[in-house]
Formats: sequence, structure tokens, C-alpha cells
Amino acid sequence: MLERTLVILKPDAVQRKLCGKIISIFEEAGFNIVDAKFTHASKELVERHYPNNNKWYTSVGNKSITNYQEQGLDIKNTMGTDDPLEIGKVVKKWLVEYMTSGPVLAMVLEGNNAIKNVRKMCGNTIPSSAEPSTIRGRFSIDSSDMANSEHRPVKNLIHASGEPDEAKYEIALWFGSESV
Ligand code: ATP
Ligand code: MG
Repeated sequence: MLERTLVILKPDAVQRKLCGKIISIFEEAGFNIVDAKFTHASKELVERHYPNNNKWYTSVGNKSITNYQEQGLDIKNTMGTDDPLEIGKVVKKWLVEYMTSGPVLAMVLEGNNAIKNVRKMCGNTIPSSAEPSTIRGRFSIDSSDMANSEHRPVKNLIHASGEPDEAKYEIALWFGSESV
């Protein structure tokens, strides 16, 4: 099934000059780049890009909690709370700072089952938990506890839409509804 998905090479990918390598990985897999722009995102755009609901906050908070548990660490020591909702809200604030800290490369990729296949190639959200064959696992070893102790989200190089509705929303947000 031919699909489109939104990919953003985040400020750390641009700063580390990894855009070319990451684009090659998608091109070699067979994806077409059907739209692209190099841009410095506004705070407002990033706030609209990342969901603003308790389900998403809780999911992000739970990822942190799991990552701390895997390393035998107590999240309360760094975050001051073990409530996933509260942790998610703090991470969102950091995310807005991170995503607006420098230019990003936003792209619309098209290909067979693009949404699922691109996510698979990105790997786990937390780079230190991502398989080394994935983009996040190959180019980073960052983890939640390391990031949170520095008051920032994990630097994981790339964003990719998670589901068809998310892809439609995000492509329209970054490129306009004619690119969906
Ligand atoms: P993205 O939406 O950026 O493609 P994702 O869908 O894998 O990533 P989300 O749960 O949507 O992950 O989280 C959005 C972003 O928030 C992550 O890419 C990461 O930068 C940051 N983030 C998520 N969870 C954590 C965490 N537990 N600790 C620190 N940062 C986090
Ligand atoms: Mg996401």
C-alpha cells in the first residue's frame, strides 16, 4: 500500500551533519522524497506538532519510567516525581526547546507501508534501547536518565509519524494539505 509519512531530521542530526547519510538510508530502501524543506521551526509549530493530551503525556512519561527501571535507577531522584503524566508534561516543554534550538530538515517520504516501515528503520525512541541496525541505534547512545539529568529530551535525531491519522495531520501542518 502506497503511503506518505512525515520525517523530521531534528536539530542534532543537522548539527552532526548526518542528513546526507540518513537520507541515503531511506533512498536505498526504496522511498521517494516527495517534499522537503530546511527550516527553523517556531515554538508554535512544535507545540502543535506534538500532541497536547493526557494520553500522549502519559505514554512519554511511561517510556521514561521504563528506561530508568531498566537501568535500576529511581526516576524520582531526577524528575522529582514518578507520575507519568507530570513527567510527560515536563518532557514536552523540553521538546519545544530542543526542536526550536536549530534548523531541521522536514521531508515527506512516500513508499510501500511508509509509516510502519520508516518507524521500523528509526528504531526505539530511546537510542540506547534501539537496535544498532536502526538509525537511532546506529547514530546515538543517548538515554532518558542521561537526558533528563541535563534537563532535555533524548536526542534521537529523527521524528517519523506513528499512524496514518498522525501522518495526515503532520504533513498538512508542515507542508499544507496538498502534500498529504
Ligand atoms: P517522535 O514522535 O519524535 O518520532 P517517538 O514517536 O518515537 O518519537 P514520542 O513518544 O512521540 O516518541 O516522543 C517524542 C519525543 O520526545 C521523542 O522523540 C524524544 O525526543 C522525546 N522523548 C520521548 N520520551 C522521552 C523520554 N522518556 N525521555 C526523554 N525524552 C523523551
Ligand atoms: Mg511520536
